[in-house]
Amino acid sequence: MTELYIRRDLTDLPDARGYFGEFGGRFVPETIIPALDELEGAYADAIADPSFHDELAHLQRSYTGRPTPVSYARRLSERLGGAQIYLKREDLAHTGAHKINNALGQGLLAKRMGKRRIIAETGAGQHGVGTATAMALLGLECHVYMGTVDIKRQQPNVFRMKLLGAEVIPVTSGSRTLKDAINEAMRDWVTNVETTFYLLGSALGPHPYPMMVRDFQSVIGVEAREQIQEMAGQLPDACIACVGGGSNAIGMFHAFRDDEGTELIGVEAGGHGIESREHAARFADLDISRPGILHGTRSYVMQDDDGQIMETHSISAGLDYPSVGPEHAHLRQMERAFYTMATDEEALEAFQVLSKTEGIIPALESSHALAEAIKRAPTMPRDSVLLVNLSGRGDKDLDTVIGVLGS
Ligand SMILES: *Cc1c(COP(=O)(O)O)cnc(C)c1O
Repeated sequence: MTELYIRRDLTDLPDARGYFGEFGGRFVPETIIPALDELEGAYADAIADPSFHDELAHLQRSYTGRPTPVSYARRLSERLGGAQIYLKREDLAHTGAHKINNALGQGLLAKRMGKRRIIAETGAGQHGVGTATAMALLGLECHVYMGTVDIKRQQPNVFRMKLLGAEVIPVTSGSRTLKDAINEAMRDWVTNVETTFYLLGSALGPHPYPMMVRDFQSVIGVEAREQIQEMAGQLPDACIACVGGGSNAIGMFHAFRDDEGTELIGVEAGGHGIESREHAARFADLDISRPGILHGTRSYVMQDDDGQIMETHSISAGLDYPSVGPEHAHLRQMERAFYTMATDEEALEAFQVLSKTEGIIPALESSHALAEAIKRAPTMPRDSVLLVNLSGRGDKDLDTVIGVLGS
């Protein structure tokens, strides 16, 4: 049972300095290095300890509801008339998305390190809610930094966090959005590092975070790889996942890395289209996206000629980020994974199609992955198999969709 929840034997990456090829690393102020070293040591210690795995596995089964199922999308597949589409149902995990996998893993690690004060930052509030949930369960103190612009835009999630016992700390500096919240959380961590654990929400940030978040999410792919073989009698021809920071995608991809017949496809937010420059397609628009440093790690970053970080746009808050996890930049460079994008409009269409054909309302983020499956399936033979990671449920997006489609 143990290795089911954290799979690390498929790659030796990152290297000892936290690099995935030429991406990743640690680009942080000197003052944070000891905290990262301490975290790295504690994590290495934890994953060598069977009792840590057992405790996490127990929570994943009895609290999150793992394993989440794989569902065959029969009506959708028939309608498209090509590949058979299967969905990994992270929307059925407690709180309705994959983020809880990581929040529980890091929460247990914090507890083990004797740090009872947890800080996190959030943009749309999804990571804040996931963290607040796990901290309520584990009995840890939770403080979430959030820009005042985002607080205004995301009232229901602010209320959820408070209900779950977290303190939401308004950030009024800069553009008062996610990147300012990240800066404030970093500042807090430097000041209170003795007592405080910084819980990062995606496969981003300085080493060891991208590795650690990947490992905690790798349960998605480990489960799905077994389930799809049982259901479809074969490995998938392709795995498709949306890519914001990249945690649900890397969690799905990892188990399939050595399966040469399985293509790995990440889908970024194409927003209003590449020409509009209003998107978050870090791998698609190489005029404005190039290797650079953001939030402690080296990866692709959307930036202007002076290196100023660009504003991004996506209909889905979870994909709306100017950089991307460093392991994705590496997988792309190695040509082990391929990246494409779906526009707001394509995601909205997929959102409605899945609702009507399968009775599943997907998150707008996940709808980007579905949009790619909808494009691809008709071009593939009927005995081929597509596995889509349905990273979350769409209830949180109803207001957005009503706003666009009208009632
Ligand atoms: C946050 C979120 C994402 C994007 O984050 P990743 O780290 O790229 O997985 C995708 N889907 C859902 C449902 C989310 O809440």
